[in-house]
Amino acid sequence: MLNVTLRFLIALLFCATPGLAGDWSARFDLTLHRILQGGPPHFDDAFVLADAVPQNTRRFTNFSGDVSGRYIGALAAAARHTGRSLPQLDRIVAKTLQLQKPDGHFGAPMSEHQVTNDDMAMLWGNGRMLIGLLEYYALSPRAEVLASARKLGDFLVRQAPRFNSEQVRREYNGEKFAVGYICWTSNLEGLVELYRVTRDGRYLALAREIASRTDRHPSQHSHGFLSTVRGIVQLYRVTGEHSYLEQAKQQWQGVIDSGNVLLQGAVPEMFAPAVKRDEGCSEADWLRLSLELWQLTRDPQCLRQAELTLFNEFAFNQFHSGDFGHHLLAADGIAPDFAHAWWCCTFHGLRAMAVLFDYAFHQSDGALVYDLPVDARGGIPGLELQAESSLERDGTVLLTVLKSDGAPHVLKVRVPLWASEVKGALASARVWKTGETVTLTYVMRTREVRQAGRTAIFCGPWLLAVDETRSPNFFDEPYTENKVQWPAEPAPAAISAAAFSVPAAHMQIRYLPGGYPVQPGTALLRPMAEYTGGPDSNRLVFWLP
Ligand SMILES: [Zn+2]
Repeated sequence: MLNVTLRFLIALLFCATPGLAGDWSARFDLTLHRILQGGPPHFDDAFVLADAVPQNTRRFTNFSGDVSGRYIGALAAAARHTGRSLPQLDRIVAKTLQLQKPDGHFGAPMSEHQVTNDDMAMLWGNGRMLIGLLEYYALSPRAEVLASARKLGDFLVRQAPRFNSEQVRREYNGEKFAVGYICWTSNLEGLVELYRVTRDGRYLALAREIASRTDRHPSQHSHGFLSTVRGIVQLYRVTGEHSYLEQAKQQWQGVIDSGNVLLQGAVPEMFAPAVKRDEGCSEADWLRLSLELWQLTRDPQCLRQAELTLFNEFAFNQFHSGDFGHHLLAADGIAPDFAHAWWCCTFHGLRAMAVLFDYAFHQSDGALVYDLPVDARGGIPGLELQAESSLERDGTVLLTVLKSDGAPHVLKVRVPLWASEVKGALASARVWKTGETVTLTYVMRTREVRQAGRTAIFCGPWLLAVDETRSPNFFDEPYTENKVQWPAEPAPAAISAAAFSVPAAHMQIRYLPGGYPVQPGTALLRPMAEYTGGPDSNRLVFWLP
């Protein structure tokens, strides 16, 4: 388990936003550190590049460009966010360019006649590679990188007639899952970015074709689908055509309406009815998509969804090692089986955190608005602030004025539904002094959710769970017949100073054990977010009997 000192040292070594401290900067640092120096497995050059060759030295090298492309994209975004230069990133990109095949793709060969599962796996990885190279190009605009991305884009344009065919779409939209049609459609994100950079109409035409072939279906791979929908949002950004924004918003709403956003804000790896595990990539996509739709529409529902996922499933999904991955889902919570998905989720988790901080503030009618209680810098003409959030630890955010022109300015602080008020916030215009600080204190509400005779409870933004380690007797057989006595009470004292613990939201419940109701017991309720501190394997119940 990470202790506080180690967390502090990592924060010193890998300061997410230079000078900023806070809960989500520490989480960002943990995953960046894992990718650069952690493991096993270790991301040395040969290991990362194995799928661009391909060389069968690890699993999933048939998803050509999946690890290598994500490594490049995630580290490019991290370098941009931190302002740090990452020599290993430049080195890997240089080596990647050497591995491009004459026809423009990376990794495993492409069949020439009947489309195969292997073709789909290869296309998936190349889609991650295309957006990865372009994210690197945005950071470091070098001609040979763009030339490589164009060559890959031209390969996709040449392949389009085969993969846009109705027959291939029907066949691979069935039970194919990880090698489903989403392996083709998820190339959308990279194609839109390639068009944005080059203004070559062939890439836009193909992007439009793919957008028109995007739909959600039962037991689909949610990460592939959501990545495609994020591509549709980008298509709106570059064309300005509202139909694409509407399409993305409808697909977003459809995920919710079809029951595919679970209580904890998790989107399962496979859409309903399969729903077996979570997946860090899907959670990262859902978070990014919800934040983007919030920015484009200012629909508060989008921000509420982002917040639900961020403070619960996305935080929980991050392991003590810095990896993201999978947990088996149970009918009343989380089962002990887990996987560190170093081949995808670890990178995609970092990729999402690298942009998270951009959504904390926005400008509205000349006022600066603080929306999302995470670490960030934000400003309007004449006023610049930074926010450092220790919401997990003590429910507060420290605002510091970095620059002020001495004129009055308005700072608005959003009061989320999970807080009854935010103390320290001011609604009217005032003069800010450079260097002054304001502490915002979020007064947490508790909220009970009832479903089919069971109850779940949130404290502030956090969903609370009973776990087997801290409350073993709660699981005495037959625990599903336990009778919980509401309401929950505050926990007697802050239990833990462990990394990522959320003492601000610890509570306890009294219950009558199913097997021996004559002897009442108490169980600790902890935010699922704090299991990042370890251990990795947890049996959690949040739907309480
Ligand atoms: Zn994943």
